Amino acid sequence: MKDLIQIDHLSTYFNTESGKVKAVDDVSLRVREGEIVCIVGESGCGKSVTAMSIMGLVEEPGGKVVNGQIHFDGKDLLQLTKNELRTIRGNDISMIFQEPMSSLNPVLKIGEQIMEPLIIHQKLSKKEARERAIQLIEQVGISRAKQIVDSYPHELSGGMLQRIMIAIAISSNPKLLIADEPTTALDVTIQAQILDMLRQFKEQSNMSIMLITHDLGVVAEMADYVIVMYAGKIVEEGEVVKLFESPQHPYTQGLLKSKPVLNQRQDELYSIPGQVPNPLELTESCYFHDRCEHCMDICRTQQPKLKEVALQQKAACWLYEEALVHG
Ligand code: SF4
Ligand code: MG
Repeated sequence: MKDLIQIDHLSTYFNTESGKVKAVDDVSLRVREGEIVCIVGESGCGKSVTAMSIMGLVEEPGGKVVNGQIHFDGKDLLQLTKNELRTIRGNDISMIFQEPMSSLNPVLKIGEQIMEPLIIHQKLSKKEARERAIQLIEQVGISRAKQIVDSYPHELSGGMLQRIMIAIAISSNPKLLIADEPTTALDVTIQAQILDMLRQFKEQSNMSIMLITHDLGVVAEMADYVIVMYAGKIVEEGEVVKLFESPQHPYTQGLLKSKPVLNQRQDELYSIPGQVPNPLELTESCYFHDRCEHCMDICRTQQPKLKEVALQQKAACWLYEEALVHG
């Protein structure tokens, strides 16, 4: 499979009143054609900021992509103008968020909101766009599409609104769909239906999906490849079966202790003792050291690098430094 998007050494920082927060710190990853990559981690670990950086939605002066390249279809997204990026967002990369209400305009009818990008980016006439909107509503599993097209967002349930967001997202036949906690606000049954639907669309169109979640049940259900983030860094990554069968990083091992059950939503990821470090107080160290039962002296003073620890599996942990382990 060919790489669709390749991110190298991405760093995105935010300036806050109390200091600089390295929300994403030297992150490299790729998503191949037709692949589902899940980025998993607790809130604040940098998963959403990674997505926002790809989409060009990190706003200065508060936040800034300070380093890295994001290659998509032969272009470095970080070098594009706002307009060029907007074109890519309207055609090749789509995004859906946890709260559909925050992306929909409450005073515009559902149909108008689906039609707008079709008219702007695909140059459909109003009439064609309306017909296409009805088709799309049917495609995301909503009956009475002809009625829904003239409804307002507040008239629909959360699950239906998320389906509408998916309809808008797939309306341009994107190559990449970035979904940031798309089912977190929904109940278990609706969540399963929506994930199924995303997988079906992926299979029909060979679209790639970058799925951001804190829910390991969702990861088990959806991922081909998994990236585990902690405090702005990737601590482990690998092919999904391997990562679940033999997690190498103590953080991933902790996450998996909660044994996710398929199709069951988890509000709390797990209960590893301790807390994510304060992003303003990070020192040169393994950021997980306060919570790690294997912590060694070196873990407190030097940061381990992400390296191959098994076939198709990488981890950033001093336990896997040959020199240390084998003397
Ligand atoms: Fe634990 Fe050290 Fe590995 Fe960090 S580097 S996860 S503290 S053993
Ligand atoms: Mg988030």
